[in-house]
Order: sequence, then structure tokens, then C-alpha cells
Amino acid sequence: ISEFGIAEALQKLGINKINEGTSTGLHNFSSGEILESYSPVDGKLIGSVKMSTAEDYEKTIQVATAAFKTFRLMPAPQRGEIVRQFGEKLRQNKEALGKLVSYEMGKSLQEGYGEVQEMIDICDFAVGLSRQLHGLTMHSERPGHRMYEQYHPMGVVGIISAFNFPVAVWAWNTALAWICGDVCVWKPSEKTPLCGIACQNIIAEVIEENNLPEGISCLINGDYKLGELMTSDARIPLISATGSTRMGKIVAQAVAARLGKSLLELGGNNAIIVTPDADINMTIIGAVFGAVGTAGQRCTSTRRLIIHESIFEKVKDAIVSAYKQLKIGNPLDENNHVGPLIDKEAVIMYAAALDKVVAQGGTILVEGGVLSGEGYESGCYVKPAIALAQNSFEIVQHETFAPVLYLIKYSGDVDNALEYQNGVGQGLSSAIMTNNLREAERFLSVVGSDCGIANVNIGTSGAEIGGAFGGEKDTGGGRESGSDAWKIYMRRQTNTINYTTSLPLAQGIKFDL
Ligand code: NAD
Repeated sequence: ISEFGIAEALQKLGINKINEGTSTGLHNFSSGEILESYSPVDGKLIGSVKMSTAEDYEKTIQVATAAFKTFRLMPAPQRGEIVRQFGEKLRQNKEALGKLVSYEMGKSLQEGYGEVQEMIDICDFAVGLSRQLHGLTMHSERPGHRMYEQYHPMGVVGIISAFNFPVAVWAWNTALAWICGDVCVWKPSEKTPLCGIACQNIIAEVIEENNLPEGISCLINGDYKLGELMTSDARIPLISATGSTRMGKIVAQAVAARLGKSLLELGGNNAIIVTPDADINMTIIGAVFGAVGTAGQRCTSTRRLIIHESIFEKVKDAIVSAYKQLKIGNPLDENNHVGPLIDKEAVIMYAAALDKVVAQGGTILVEGGVLSGEGYESGCYVKPAIALAQNSFEIVQHETFAPVLYLIKYSGDVDNALEYQNGVGQGLSSAIMTNNLREAERFLSVVGSDCGIANVNIGTSGAEIGGAFGGEKDTGGGRESGSDAWKIYMRRQTNTINYTTSLPLAQGIKFDL
């Protein structure tokens, strides 16, 4: 690991052997138990974090609530200037943070850098947006009246994030929440706590250098119990939660019980439809990267290939032969394509999925298996697998967070493929590979894909920050990042102003005294 500069990266990011898990931007503290973070890359201990107790949480929320009272008064473009500086700090730390993401989470170094680039991109987007938090004006039905709507800062935003995008999800939320005048309290995944510490150290510099109120970006560390304190806390008007559908269903109910708002970014079960008119080379590149990139641990990973029977054998042979080229190993080494799964629990779920697909009637086309021996000491490296399956299999209906790809055959027209594509609980990302305009438009039409993301001639995996990101059904319905996703971080107010000397009522109601 020394050859990849991990020790230098940790030092640059201010990661110690033992780190305080609670931070209000200027103060770091914690009185909880120790959480150890082991790398899935080599199985070694990277560092430890003292977790936040209920008392630490209470202190943090009080500081955040107080910070909101002053931060909301800062004009939005000035808040944009703070986010611009945050983006600059991320540029300075891109290499170190990208390496930590790769080492703690296990994704390839290029993807680690890519994740930090997404943070930089959302900062740039948010800076421009800080001058564009537009409302509408409307014509009043009453003479001498004016109507408009405006967006006000909302308060404390609670961010609960997943292990697989250990830094970008936080930045998507924080950059937008900040320009909207909100303050943030972040609970990173307990599987990637050091990424959380590193990000908070970076943002703390911005807070200090600008004499900003302590508490505008807070960090707490712990497991789901700490998350539960957030979801039931009426002082947090918005909970943005990224993770499994199982978690989202619990979070949604807890937040709804106190009539708070939730922004849910949950699991996917993403498919590429491959029609007789598809460009096979492009299909293979999109499908292989989509299925094995991040070792199949992206919410947008390709899980299903729905292939027309007329080209099924050709596509199957091409993808099986492409899998033979895959190099599995240390993700910090840029010669490798596939890194490890996050932990041994994920390995068990991967192996169980392969057993289940066979038990349910599927056929393995590319054998899976857990790797051992030199370079695979962590026990988290697995072989990407492909199985021939039916869309209706219980295991195919389920999101297995690992590199397992199901090939499904369809016949007839694209509507039959769409029935499979939409015939799962999740609705995150979808794609069609076709050069046929009618098929592409059908896929994008009202009777087409039911997902939040629908792509033509690119795969399902990944997205640009400029668009609103998220999905329907079991994916939770939330939208983050670009377009008008900022609106969920603000409260909308409709204003009617009467500049006459009489008081006409709406709907022509007469009320004479
Ligand atoms: P997870 O659901 O196990 O955990 C996610 C976060 O939720 C963690 O911080 C965890 O501590 C917290 N949590 C768990 N139970 C909770 C509860 N009852 N109350 C409050 N917080 C709770 O997910 P994971 O294994 O870290 O991540 C993988 C999942 O995340 C996959 O399903 C993936 O598709 C999904 N994901 C979705 C998106 C998206 O944008 N749609 C992005 C990344 C990951």
C-alpha cells in the first residue's frame, strides 16, 4: 500500500489513528465506543473513530439549530461564495480524498477521483444556482393586488448516507443545502467513517477561514441507532437518506410520523434493453462497465440485460468473452478492472445470490467464486458472474449489491422488453441500446421506462450532476443534485400584496360590515 501513497493521503486529510466522530466544524468531540475501519483492499485497519452518543448528538443538534439562525441571514450569493471556496478546497484535496475513497470503500482509484470530481462539479453548479433561487410571479384575480412566491431557507438538513458513495452524496446535499441557507448534520455509513472525517476536516477549514457560524456543517458517526435519533427529531425538517429500500421504508415512516420531509435515494435493479438494432460493441462496453464497475456496488449498476432473441447468442458470446479479459485485484492499481466488495457480509450475499439463481432455475454462464491467496487477503474479492435467468425469479427481482449480471431473453417488439424492464419493484436507472428511432422514442414515452433515469445508447451506470438524480417506486421518489432538485431544501411561501385602499376578498366573496 505504501507505493500508492495512502499514508501521505491520510496525513493530508488529517486522519489520525483514533478520530473524534462528532464535529460541529470548530469543535471535535465524542464520548462513544470505538468504530474501527478496515480496508476491503488489504484487510488492514486504516483508523478508528469514536462514535457519537445520544448526548453528543443532542449537543450537535443544538449547535446546528443555533447556526441556522445566523446563516439564513447571509445573502444567497454570499453563501455561494462559501461553496466556491469549498470546491477549491476539494480541488486541492482531490488526489488524497480520491485515494482514501478507493482504499476505505474499495472502488477503483479512477472512480475514487471521479467521485471527488462530482463533489467539485456540484459545488460549481451550486455557486451559479445561488443567484437563481427563483420563484414565480402570478397575476392576482383581485384588482390592485400582486402575487408571487419565494423560497426561504428551511433549517437543519439531516443527511444519512450509504457506503458506496461515501463522499459525493454528502456533497450533493451539502452544496445545495448551503446555498439554500440550510445547515447540515451528516451521518455517514458506519462502513466508511474515515471518509466522513476527511470531508468534515476539509469543510471545517472553510468555516474557520470565513468566520462562519459553528454548526453549519456537522458530523456524527454511528450506526442505524444514531440515524433513528435523526429521523424522529422534529428539529430536522428534512431527512435526505441514501441506502437500501429496507432502510428507506423505516426512515420514511419515522419522518412521516412527525410530518417531516424525506428525500429518499434507495436501491435500483437496473436493466439495459438490447434490441435487434443495437450497436453490439457499444452494448458490451456499457454492460460490462455497468455490471462490474465498483464491483457491482453502484445504485445504478447494471443488473439485467434484456436481449432480443434474434441477437441473444451473439450478445451472450461477446459479453462472456469480454468477462474473460477482466482483471480482479487491488483497485488502487490502475491495471485492475474490478476491486473488492465492501466486506465479508457482502461476499456472503453475493454467494447466496448465485446459489439462489441456480436453485430457481437459472444457468450460470460465467462462474463466480471468492478469490483467495496473494493480493486477496481481505477475503472481499469475488469473480464477476453472469447467469441466464427469467425476470420473474425472486432473486432477479431483488437488488444483489455485487457483480452478478442476469441475461434475460425477450421476443417480439420492444413493449415485451419494457414489460420486463418495468416488472421489478425498483425504478432507478434504465437504458436501451438501439439505432431504431421508434424503439428509442417508445422507450422514453409515457408507456416506456418507468425509471427516474432513462438513457438511450449509454448504459445505466453513473449520471451527470446537471440532471435531477433519483428514481421511482422502491427507489424512493427523491431527486438530488441538478435541475430544480434544490427546491426540496427550501420552504415555499406564496405572497399576496394589496396596494389599494379597499379589501376585496378572493372568489368574489362579499363580507360587508
Ligand atoms: P444501508 O441501507 O445498509 O445503510 C445506509 C445508511 O442508512 C447508513 O448510514 C445506515 O447507518 C443508515 N440506516 C440504516 N438503518 C437505518 C434506520 N433504521 N434509521 C436511520 N438510518 C438507518 O445501505 P448501504 O448498504 O450502506 O448502501 C447500499 C444501498 O444504497 C443499495 O441498496 C444502493 O442501491 C443504495 N444506494 C442508493 C443510491 C441512490 O442514489 N438511489 C445511492 C447510493 C446507494
